[in-house]
Amino acid sequence: MLMRPNIILHGGAGRWTRAKHVDKAQEVVAKCTEKGMSILRNNGSAVDAVVEAVKCTEDSGYLNAGVGSVLDFMGGRSLDAGVMDGSTGRIGAVAAVTATRNPVVLARIVMEKTDHHLIGGRGADLLAFLNGLPPLPPPPPHVWERYQEAVKKLLEGKPEIYKKITDFLENYDFIRKIIEEALDTGDTVGAVAVDSMGRLAAAVSTGGVIMKFPGRIGDSPIPGAGFYASEYTACSATGIGEKIIECMVCKQLDTYYRETRDIVAAAEKTIEYVDKLVGENTMGFIAVDKNGEVVWAYNTEAMLIGYYEDGEVRTTIKPPRNKR
Ligand code: ASP
Repeated sequence: MLMRPNIILHGGAGRWTRAKHVDKAQEVVAKCTEKGMSILRNNGSAVDAVVEAVKCTEDSGYLNAGVGSVLDFMGGRSLDAGVMDGSTGRIGAVAAVTATRNPVVLARIVMEKTDHHLIGGRGADLLAFLNGLPPLPPPPPHVWERYQEAVKKLLEGKPEIYKKITDFLENYDFIRKIIEEALDTGDTVGAVAVDSMGRLAAAVSTGGVIMKFPGRIGDSPIPGAGFYASEYTACSATGIGEKIIECMVCKQLDTYYRETRDIVAAAEKTIEYVDKLVGENTMGFIAVDKNGEVVWAYNTEAMLIGYYEDGEVRTTIKPPRNKR
């Protein structure tokens, strides 16, 4: 029996209303959602759809993934991504990649061509090279500007901060505050889809949080946290990675779905659980169930999503919170 395919994309949870690049980001999300849907409509798999949709956002340079990834405390970049095929339970993820343009494609290679689930650092970049994936180009100018703004704020507050790396640890609370302010848009990307065979898949890709400590790895390559797919649901999360890991939010959604058999109820229960466990203004997620119903939930000011309604692609940064 052929099922109704569906896809939903997110472009990050955070303070989108203040972001300079919001129009461009919405355009990219619309284009990449359409790309994923056209794969599904041509009987492509859910894995193809989510990987290609996320790759499209990585290539754009306007979202915090691939080319547009934010810079860490020292001005470097390290990228994380993950993918899961709900129909087989296969997982692939990469962490702290520094030289690869499309970490989500690399995550798929880990899933399909290796015996491992998660490969990090130099080894991941080597795997990309061996598979002929393109290198990561230099950051676009707007990424540098965002970093420079954050550094300027740091230097105004504590000019001595770059003197010694130990200052970073001593001043961690202060730096954390600046990071939270700079985290006006957590414009990580993710996609979840169900294909015409009823197979579910989830993918996610990120440059992490701006001004992070070099080498920090967030939720995005952690199965169950930043992404998860089963025969029932597929979910992709965004927000403060440490909090998402504490909640194992995508696995939690799947568990609630198995109890309720209702994706909207499962999403509501999950966000209530998140609020209780780690507090508000921490994260958002998108999900789809095996029947093709999509849902989202977030406890931040906004979350950028792209989805289909009445056959048309739509994007919004302020989706209604209680969708049914
Ligand atoms: N979750 C990502 C991380 O913590 C950031 C984001 O969603 O914007 O690495």
